Amino acid sequence: MPINKRILVDTIARERIDILFNLAKECAATDSELSREYVRHMKKIGTHCRMKLPKEVKNGVCKKCDSVLIPGLSARVRIASRNNYVVYECLACKAERHVHY
Ligand SMILES: [Zn+2]
Repeated sequence: MPINKRILVDTIARERIDILFNLAKECAATDSELSREYVRHMKKIGTHCRMKLPKEVKNGVCKKCDSVLIPGLSARVRIASRNNYVVYECLACKAERHVHY
């Protein structure tokens, strides 16, 4: 794939991922299944275009059930200060994500 086309594909994919992530965050409180569908679609775009998801998107989504992690709404957040990481616990499936700082 030529460099210009690669840049174009990355730009469009990034744009679509941002839009889908914002939509997923907006409807997480009202319709969680629709929100999960947006996240699945977003992941599919990332896989298809062979690009990494942005860090804020990757850390804001549950790996197990694809729900958006919003502190207080769909996630419990605590700090494991002894081990230097933040724990995001998904309230839907109880999966934990450790984000090191
Ligand atoms: Zn989950």
